Amino acid sequence: MSGSSASYIFALLLIGFLLIVSVLFFGYVFTLASWAVSTKIISVLVYVAVVALGFNWFQAGQIANLKYQVTASGKGSETLFSDLYQNSPVAYLRTDATGRILHGNAAALRLCGMQTEQLVTNNLFSLIREAEVDAARALNLEQRIYAGQFVNEVEAELFVGGGSRWVLVSAFPYEHNRERLITLIDITEQKAVDIAKTEFVSLASHQLRTPISAILWNLELLTNVLGNAPADQIAYVDKVRRSTEKMNGLVNDFLDATKLEMGTFATKTGPVSLNTFMAHVLESFEAQIAGKSLELQAHIPATEVVLATDEALLHIIVSNLISNAVKYTPERGQIGVALDVVGNGVAFTVRDTGIGVPANDQPHLFSKLYRASNTKTSPTEGTGLGLYVVKQAVELLGGTIAFASTEGVGTEFVVTLPYQS
Ligand code: ATP
Ligand code: MG
Repeated sequence: MSGSSASYIFALLLIGFLLIVSVLFFGYVFTLASWAVSTKIISVLVYVAVVALGFNWFQAGQIANLKYQVTASGKGSETLFSDLYQNSPVAYLRTDATGRILHGNAAALRLCGMQTEQLVTNNLFSLIREAEVDAARALNLEQRIYAGQFVNEVEAELFVGGGSRWVLVSAFPYEHNRERLITLIDITEQKAVDIAKTEFVSLASHQLRTPISAILWNLELLTNVLGNAPADQIAYVDKVRRSTEKMNGLVNDFLDATKLEMGTFATKTGPVSLNTFMAHVLESFEAQIAGKSLELQAHIPATEVVLATDEALLHIIVSNLISNAVKYTPERGQIGVALDVVGNGVAFTVRDTGIGVPANDQPHLFSKLYRASNTKTSPTEGTGLGLYVVKQAVELLGGTIAFASTEGVGTEFVVTLPYQS
């Protein structure tokens, strides 16, 4: 039972009790034959006055008690919040709009390895650097905090004590936008584990390439000497070759992904004739397109378009998009590939009339190893690495990628690359 309903019941009982006592008292006084009427009236008045005073006193007590509770709870939450801020395991910093540090809680002092006096001589923006600046985003982390935007868990490097740590930065404007509350979550350990995993996959993929190449080479020799061997033997060798080629593609995808992640993808920028490039890429898909009786509409400008870029990365981008369009479009569907000169760059468009991407899956499409839910109902092979690699490659070339898709209708990807990356 809550405190207020208990005191309500208590007040009701008290009033009931007073009523009974009053009835008994009045009855007793008025039956006393020895008392004069005036004495009886005076004693009733005195009784009423005493009860009224008592009731008043009781009410005043209740109000005082209520006031105390309100004040005490107000004080309690203030202390609670300040204790939470000060002793939270999450590092909190208060800064002004220009990033000047005004205060840090105990965890922030531990994270930065500084005392308050030293911490407040720093500017937040000179201590942190955003890990990956998204080219598609108009403002970077510093500008967003300055502008008073809510920032949620942006990965950044924190430079303290002559070294650096990895943190997730969140920011909230407060004090009528004059100050910012910054939270820093230390993810240095997770980052180290992630890097170790990436390095392991990179090493494993690299080491697997040599034996796979040897298998492919020997299969080639074997096919040459099979000559008039029975058809089923030739078919077995062919099966082995196709599976090995698939494995080779997978290993190369892993290698590309890890190289892009670790920033060790050696880019070689040079002039690339996009007309010839596109013709070669489309040629490599001819057999697959014909195999599914797909209708290809290619729109390549008649005049030569040259882009200074890394041809290997460009190949990863365009071939992955076309490969997806072919893979996720049922037989006799349509595929459109276009190259256009736009503003200060070029745009590659790949569209199809395929299975599309369910709305729920769309936000995750560029995540590593992600495959949309409808790939289970219309079975297709894939690892979910292609678009992840494409996104990394596009960003490395300073471009942007966007897509629109409707489940059961089709998908369109547009990659824009600037002339100057
Ligand atoms: P792989 O690594 O071999 O390319 P994948 O094709 O499954 O495997 P991604 O290319 O990364 O992986 O694509 C991720 C997911 O996005 C796919 O599994 C598919 O669900 C969806 N997707 C990509 N392109 C299309 C498309 N054109 N139409 C429909 N779904 C698509
Ligand atoms: Mg793919």
